[in-house]
Amino acid sequence: MIDPSLAEAFVDTGPEFVEWVERATPLRYHQVPGLPDYHPEHPGGLPGGGRSLDPALFCFGELGSWADRVVPAQRTPRLTLTETPLGGGTGAASSPTRAQRREQDWRGCGHALVGSLLKALLDQGVEPVTGARAVELSREGPAVTGVRFADGTEVAARHGVVIATGGFEWDRELVTSFLRGPMTSPASVPTNTGDGLRMAMVAGAALGTMREAWWVPTIEIPGDEAFGRQRAQLVLRERTLPRSIMVNRTGRRFTNEAANYNALGGAFHQFDPTAFDYANLPCWLVFDARHLREYGFLGLPPGSPAPGWVTSAPDLPALAEALGLPGGSLTDTVARWNRQVDDGADADFGRGVSAYDGWNGDLAHHPGPGATLGPLTEAPFHAVQIHSGTLGTKGGPRTDVDGRVLDLSGAVIPGSTPPGTRCPG
Ligand SMILES: Cc1cc2nc3c(=O)[nH]c(=O)nc-3n(C[C@H](O)[C@H](O)[C@H](O)COP(=O)(O)OP(=O)(O)OC[C@H]3O[C@@H](n4cnc5c(N)ncnc54)[C@H](O)[C@@H]3O)c2cc1C
Repeated sequence: MIDPSLAEAFVDTGPEFVEWVERATPLRYHQVPGLPDYHPEHPGGLPGGGRSLDPALFCFGELGSWADRVVPAQRTPRLTLTETPLGGGTGAASSPTRAQRREQDWRGCGHALVGSLLKALLDQGVEPVTGARAVELSREGPAVTGVRFADGTEVAARHGVVIATGGFEWDRELVTSFLRGPMTSPASVPTNTGDGLRMAMVAGAALGTMREAWWVPTIEIPGDEAFGRQRAQLVLRERTLPRSIMVNRTGRRFTNEAANYNALGGAFHQFDPTAFDYANLPCWLVFDARHLREYGFLGLPPGSPAPGWVTSAPDLPALAEALGLPGGSLTDTVARWNRQVDDGADADFGRGVSAYDGWNGDLAHHPGPGATLGPLTEAPFHAVQIHSGTLGTKGGPRTDVDGRVLDLSGAVIPGSTPPGTRCPG
C-alpha cells in the first residue's frame, strides 16, 4: 500500500512535470496510441490507452564523445516503443530509414530518454562523473551535508543530496529481508545493490513500500550474459500470444499468462501451506510448434528451429517427463485449455478478458480473445523455465510529497533534497 498523498501528488503534478521537462530539455514525448492501462477495467482505467508516454527518437550524434559512454541497448535500439510490437507497431522500419538512423545514431526508448537528459546536463555545463561509487552520506548532526565516495573523495552539497542509486534487487540480503516473495532474476543493472538505501538507513530514514517491486517473469538463457552476469530476458509477447500456457510443478496452469507483468509477479508468491513451499515456482512456459513457426520466440524470427536452450519433445507426456512433471498432468492441462479455447473463454483465469491482455498478443485478432487464446495442438511441443524477476524494487527512504526524506518520527531530514525541487514554473 502506498501513501495516498504520494499517489495524489504524482497524479496532480504529472502533467506539470512533462511540460517542464520538455521545456527544459531536448526530451520529447508522444503518446503510445491505444496502449491500454495495466488495469483498464478498474475505476478510471483507460482500455483504449492515452496515458503511456514514449520518448521521441534522439540523435546520439549530439552527445559527441559522451555517446559511447551510454551502455548499448540489447534490443531494438533504433526504434521508438510505438514502432515495436509492444507499442502496437510492427518493429520494422524501411531500409533507408534504418540506414539513416544507424548512420546518424538515432536511438529510441530508454536510450532516447537518457540521451536527451544527458544532453540537457551537458548544455548547462554540468559534466557527470561516472564510475564513482557513493558509500556514505556526510552529516552534521541530523543534517545531510554531502556524499563520500569509495575512493575517499567527499563532495559537499550546497543545497541537498538527491539519492538516485536505483533499487536493491541485486543484493540478496536486502531482497530476502524485505521483498514479499521470492525474486531470483533481476533484469536491471547489477550495480543496483541498495547502496542509497543503506546510506539513508544510516542517516535515520524511515522506509516505505519495501516489500514491493516491479515484478516481471523472465527467461534465463544459459551463456547469455550482461555486465558479466546471467542476463534475465523479459518474457511478455511469448506468454501472451496464442498457443502458449504457463504451468507449475504440478503441471497445472496457475494464472492469466497475459496479465500485466507487475500483477503477474504475485502468482509467484502464492504459498502452499501443505507442501510448505511456493506453489508456482519453478514453472514453465509451454508452447506448440505452430506458436514457434508463426510468431518466433524471444527475438528469434518466425519459422526458426527450436534453439538448444528450449526443452522439446514429440508429445506432451514426453515433455512432462523431460520437465519432471507428474505423469498425465500436462496432457490433462492442455486438453482442458484447448476445450476452453474452443469455448472462446478462459473460465479458469480469465485470460483475454481485460483489454490489456490482447495488446501484446496476435494483433490480427485484436481486439478480442483470439489475440491471446489459442490451442496447443501441433507437435513437437516446447518448454522454457520462467523465473520470478524484477525490473527494480519500489521501496526506499520514506519521503513527503516534495521528495524530502523523513526520519522515524516523520520529520524531514535536513539536506535530504534541495528546497523547492518541484518543477520551476
Ligand atoms: C529491462 C527493463 C525494462 C524497463 N522498461 C520500462 C518501461 O518501458 N517504462 C518505464 O517507465 N520503466 C521501465 N523500466 C523501469 C525503469 O528503467 C526504472 O524504473 C528506472 O530506470 C529507475 O530509475 P532510477 O534513476 O531510480 O534508477 P536506475 O535507472 O536503476 O539508475 C540507478 C543508477 O545508480 C547507479 N548506482 C547504484 N549504486 C550507486 C552508488 N553507490 N554510487 C553511484 N551510483 C550508483 C547504478 O549503477 C545505476 O546507474 C524498465 C526496467 C528494466 C530493467
